[in-house]
Amino acid sequence: MRLVLLGAPGSGKGTQAARLKSELDVPHISTGDLLRAAVAAGTPLGQKAKAVMDAGQLVSDDIMLGMLEERLSQDDARNGFILDGYPRNLAQVEALNGLLERIEQPLDAVVKLEVPAEEIVGRCEIRFKAQGRADDNPDVVRKRLGVYAEQTAPVADWYAERGTLKVVDGVGPLDEVSQRILAALGSARVPADS
Ligand code: AMP
Repeated sequence: MRLVLLGAPGSGKGTQAARLKSELDVPHISTGDLLRAAVAAGTPLGQKAKAVMDAGQLVSDDIMLGMLEERLSQDDARNGFILDGYPRNLAQVEALNGLLERIEQPLDAVVKLEVPAEEIVGRCEIRFKAQGRADDNPDVVRKRLGVYAEQTAPVADWYAERGTLKVVDGVGPLDEVSQRILAALGSARVPADS
């Protein structure tokens, strides 16, 4: 299964991908996690990305594509993946299409988690208090939501126009949201860890 999970910051992409990876037997590839690991390791790329991330802006398309290409070349991604956080703009859609064509791994599905803006802001506040992610601070969340509306919403529209987008209600108990995603994928089994 090669799946892209779309949705605003705080819509639950990471949480759901972590739940679904065992069910679907594919790795969860989060570009945000890859970047945070680079920041934590203090690599040159991480040092460059940190200020951009802390400001709620997008890291450059070139850096992101290189990072994704490297991750998809690892053995565990040979049988599929759940991609979380990429593509984030239309240029990245094009880059992803090119990359997947080159490695002959076309997408099977694109799922968007729909969560109302008020709930998003509340969830990010809770995550800010629990995890202290600098970019979950309410001011930065507002910036990230603006970037999402401007640059990432057109990505969902792009897939919708081609009939590949499945929209799933992301509000409710985690199990129920997982079930909805599996149902949308045509596989309505209960996630292994629930
Ligand atoms: P996330 O954990 O997906 O919310 O990502 C956290 C931050 O990492 C984002 O606000 C961006 O600054 C950066 N980031 C993650 N994925 C991408 C991407 N595909 N393109 C550009 N920046 C990204």
